[in-house]
Amino acid sequence: MNVVLELGPKLKEGVKVNEPLALHTSWEVGGPADYFLCPVNVDEIIEIVRFSRKHNLPLQIIGNGSNLLVRDGGIRGLVVKIGDAFCYLQCKGDLLIVGAGTPMTYVARMAAEEALCGCEFMVGIPGSLGGAIIMNAGSFGGYIGEKVSSVKLVSLEGEALVLDKEQLSFAYRWSNLLGRGVIVEASIQLERGKKEESLEKMEYFLAERRRRHPSLPSAGSVFRNLPEQPAGRLIENAGAKGMRIGGAEVSTKHANFIVNRGDATASDILNLMDTVRSMVKEKYDIELQPEVKVVGEEI
Ligand SMILES: Cc1cc2nc3c(=O)[nH]c(=O)nc-3n(C[C@H](O)[C@H](O)[C@H](O)COP(=O)(O)OP(=O)(O)OC[C@H]3O[C@@H](n4cnc5c(N)ncnc54)[C@H](O)[C@@H]3O)c2cc1C
Repeated sequence: MNVVLELGPKLKEGVKVNEPLALHTSWEVGGPADYFLCPVNVDEIIEIVRFSRKHNLPLQIIGNGSNLLVRDGGIRGLVVKIGDAFCYLQCKGDLLIVGAGTPMTYVARMAAEEALCGCEFMVGIPGSLGGAIIMNAGSFGGYIGEKVSSVKLVSLEGEALVLDKEQLSFAYRWSNLLGRGVIVEASIQLERGKKEESLEKMEYFLAERRRRHPSLPSAGSVFRNLPEQPAGRLIENAGAKGMRIGGAEVSTKHANFIVNRGDATASDILNLMDTVRSMVKEKYDIELQPEVKVVGEEI
């Protein structure tokens, strides 16, 4: 089986071989994808999913790569990026119909333009809608799961499906869609509001983000918060803030962020994550759980 010759001609953007995934993740680390595909419509996604099934090739979906740590050896099989071709938004009354590749910030801004309120918290989250639904992304007390009223996806069997609200469940940084297929679109239920108020809220949220978050490449919060306290506080109190391994550093601004100081590898980040976990375990007897998704192989 030859992926480039057999699958390539069926896809507008073709197949890229050995594509460096550091180019597609916000941490800017990670080895190559054997085959990297950017489908431009649902039919192409169905084609890819069926091909991967037929030839027993692993399939990794990525959105904006802002919650992913790809190991330095990269990813075997097919990596499917849901990107620009799925960036669209349509307003139907109080409902937004949004493509899975649409940036969260764009959704928040367009909703405000339409005087729809309830998704201001999305501004500044650097993910796509598809990744945000999988992660049930949220901030400032809001989360995407409570706004989603239906999801269109291509199942791992290669069938296009629509799931409605009753079939979806969400919890802290979790949704029951993980591992179910490729999200292509979702509808988001909002309420009538005032444009100026939404814009003001978003400016406040963005200012808070600038104040709290480091600007170097990262994947946001590395570990899940505990119900009773933020992981960042435990990490800071355990003495790990500012600690470095290779090019990776526990941010001096926010201890639950690990930043890439320019030349970090995925293995630097993983080693630093292990060190931080051991320090917190030692001090508090608490096992921190990663929020970021670690994928791919070691070199
Ligand atoms: C500076 C910074 C700040 C952040 N702040 C926040 C925050 O405030 N709140 C928060 O919740 N997160 C935050 N994050 C983390 C991240 O932005 C979110 O988790 C985001 O929702 C991930 O979306 P993505 O498109 O980048 O997904 P990716 O990282 O590409 O993928 C995440 C997961 O979703 C899956 N996936 C992606 N797209 C699809 C699709 N179309 N269909 C099926 N599966 C898919 C992937 O396989 C993977 O399992 C932050 C990250 C950074 C770098």
